[in-house]
Amino acid sequence: MPDLSTKPYRIGRSKTGLGLFATQPIKKGSKIIRYFGPMLDCNKKKDDAVENKYLFQISKRWTIDGSVRKNIARYINHSCKPNAESDVSVKKRKIIIRAIKNIEPGEEINYDYGTEYFKEYLKPIGCKCDACEKKRLKKAAEARAEKKQKAAGPAKPAKGKAAETSRGKTKGKAAPKSGKAKSDKVKTSKAGAKSGKTGKAAGKDSKAKTASKAAKAKSGKKAK
Ligand SMILES: [Zn+2]
Repeated sequence: MPDLSTKPYRIGRSKTGLGLFATQPIKKGSKIIRYFGPMLDCNKKKDDAVENKYLFQISKRWTIDGSVRKNIARYINHSCKPNAESDVSVKKRKIIIRAIKNIEPGEEINYDYGTEYFKEYLKPIGCKCDACEKKRLKKAAEARAEKKQKAAGPAKPAKGKAAETSRGKTKGKAAPKSGKAKSDKVKTSKAGAKSGKTGKAAGKDSKAKTASKAAKAKSGKKAK
């Protein structure tokens, strides 16, 4: 592995395998790392045939093959709410990963792989980035609240105003009963869905990256 001791980042374990993490504060706007590798010219048959998971298309004609070992930037994972961006200079055929926020030591560095990639590869399996994880948790909580309300809903209008007055008494009995049963159910199903999805998706994620970058390169070919 290349020596990163003088760099403001290190390779480490992330949710979806390996990732790149800041080891020093990185200022917003500053260059973090270059994504580099041999330049592939899709007009050349030999270049056009190259396929691996680190192909980064920079124009219709040119694709960078980032699979070389020295290209540490290939470890950077996708995020929908990233702290960095891929700054592509088509003219210079250069990709710079740049901080778009102040990044603290220990934070994972990530950038947005793009809408096309997301729709095709992340949406079907569920994106594992922090932003999406948070959204999922919020949705689950909302769904739980809604279920609770639904469970409580029909009882309310049926009982009408009379229930309002005796609420204090009924609540003591009814609430724990329905509440407990409900939360138990939700918990199990959520846990099931989560473990099933997360486990598989982690593996798929890296594959998706592969396919997508390859597909990106391909779409470029087609566009030509
Ligand atoms: Zn996401």
